[in-house]
Amino acid sequence: MDFALDTDQEAIREAIAKICARFDDDYWLTRDREGGFPLDFHAAFAKDGWLGICMPEEFGGSALGVTEAAIMMQAISESGAGQSGASAVHMNIFGLNPVVVFGTEAQKRRFLPRAANLDDWWCQGFSEPGAGSDLASLRTTARRDGDCYVVDGQKTWTTLAQYADWMFCLVRTGREAKRQQGISFLLIDMKTPGVEVQPIRMMDGRHYLNAVFFDNAKVPKRNRIGEEGRGWTYAKFLLEHERVENANLRFITQELQKLRRVASEVRSDGRRLADDPSFMADVSAVEAQFKALEIGLLRTLSDMHAGAPAGPGKSSFIKIRGTEIAQRITELLVQASGPDALRYQPGPLFGHNDDALIGPAHALGPVATYLFCRAMTIYGGSTEVQKNIMAKHALGL
Ligand SMILES: Cc1cc2nc3c(=O)[nH]c(=O)nc-3n(C[C@H](O)[C@H](O)[C@H](O)COP(=O)(O)OP(=O)(O)OC[C@H]3O[C@@H](n4cnc5c(N)ncnc54)[C@H](O)[C@@H]3O)c2cc1C
Repeated sequence: MDFALDTDQEAIREAIAKICARFDDDYWLTRDREGGFPLDFHAAFAKDGWLGICMPEEFGGSALGVTEAAIMMQAISESGAGQSGASAVHMNIFGLNPVVVFGTEAQKRRFLPRAANLDDWWCQGFSEPGAGSDLASLRTTARRDGDCYVVDGQKTWTTLAQYADWMFCLVRTGREAKRQQGISFLLIDMKTPGVEVQPIRMMDGRHYLNAVFFDNAKVPKRNRIGEEGRGWTYAKFLLEHERVENANLRFITQELQKLRRVASEVRSDGRRLADDPSFMADVSAVEAQFKALEIGLLRTLSDMHAGAPAGPGKSSFIKIRGTEIAQRITELLVQASGPDALRYQPGPLFGHNDDALIGPAHALGPVATYLFCRAMTIYGGSTEVQKNIMAKHALGL
């Protein structure tokens, strides 16, 4: 391998590992209760400045690059901290990149230190019913009215909107023939009158997705990022970075560790899957694919750090590969866990919203994780759409 972590990056890994060592349980993110593990976990990162890793120093950040941010996310996962916990960290780090790059001084001063300190939690309002893959057909409108935009419409699949203070949102401000030109990028306070969040429960039984409705919601013009009608450019910038993160290195690392642990346990028939050459050949194959992805991703990040953008082709390839490997590992984990894969969820059965699971101690339950992973090849741009992007890029269309 011709890629190695340099000493600064190694120091990041060690510092993150030290924080995570204080939080050694998997958990599900909540913001409902005061204090407690999830909030302490996020607060520990904010306190040491890690949430501002990509932000300029004068706004409370560390002015490091996406390579370091990816190494940080990887180190979180190696520690065994929960996937959902990391996703709130993810929004504040990667979602605010357009503010870092295209925002005014006043916007940076107002939003970046609060995001770095986790005073504000962010969510992403891009998708709408009928405007997912074909995002340019979005219909949520923002009509000018004095110093404000009046926003009307609906967003959907908004991750963790129930906890978010702010949304970075794409809205239609113009009716230009080229649909992409009529889109603007607004920052919307979730407490604005006329903004309503409704939960969407997922097939894994949890609630992290939402529909968000706007009814005459007034958003100050000063909350627009960049120029009116250029939101598409800023969103593309965000998505390219996000897709690289969507390689799911942190998730795959965790699930591989879990898979090896489950395979080494003695089953009721007295045997271990770790001694089954055919099963372990499958595990080794997926591990080899993962290592190849990891090296490819670190190379891409290193190029990005040196100023060469990932480009649509590469980030799409990384996203496809990372999500397919993640899905394969969760399939093997369900296979390895046998009947223990399905954990009992008393909450839905007894009509209360209790996420507690009863059953064997394989963290959140392989079937729930398997079901969640079906979404990976959809969110952040579906696999089919990524293939179209790669084909266009390769054919120079
Ligand atoms: C768990 C999860 C979290 C999410 N979080 C967020 C979030 O926080 N914020 C946000 O804005 N969005 C979020 N999304 C939405 C996500 O970005 C969209 O689901 C995604 O872009 C696909 O859009 P869609 O669901 O409308 O499907 P559609 O676009 O309707 O696609 C349906 C099917 O058609 C295929 N298809 C569509 N167009 C083409 C084409 N041109 N060529 C070939 N095949 C095609 C797709 O691959 C897919 O299989 C989330 C989604 C999920 C599942």
